Amino acid sequence: MQTTVRQANTEIARFRTLVGRLRNDFLRVTRVARTGIGQYEIECAACGQGHGTFKFQSDATDAARTHANRCAA
Ligand SMILES: [Zn+2]
Repeated sequence: MQTTVRQANTEIARFRTLVGRLRNDFLRVTRVARTGIGQYEIECAACGQGHGTFKFQSDATDAARTHANRCAA
C-alpha cells in the first residue's frame, strides 16, 4: 500500500518484450523507472504488472531484461 505522494517516475531503461519484438510493437515494453534515491521499479506495460523494487540500477535493468524475455503478454 502506497501512502506517500508519488513523484513522477524517471524512466531510465526500457526493453521490448518477446511479443513486442516479434510483432514490432513498441507499446509492449518493460520499463525501469527511478522512483527515489536508490530505488528503482520495474513496470511492464505489456502485462500491466509491476515486477519489484530494486536498490541498484544494474539489478533493476537485469531483472527488467529477464522479464521482457519471458513476458508472454
Ligand atoms: Zn510483462
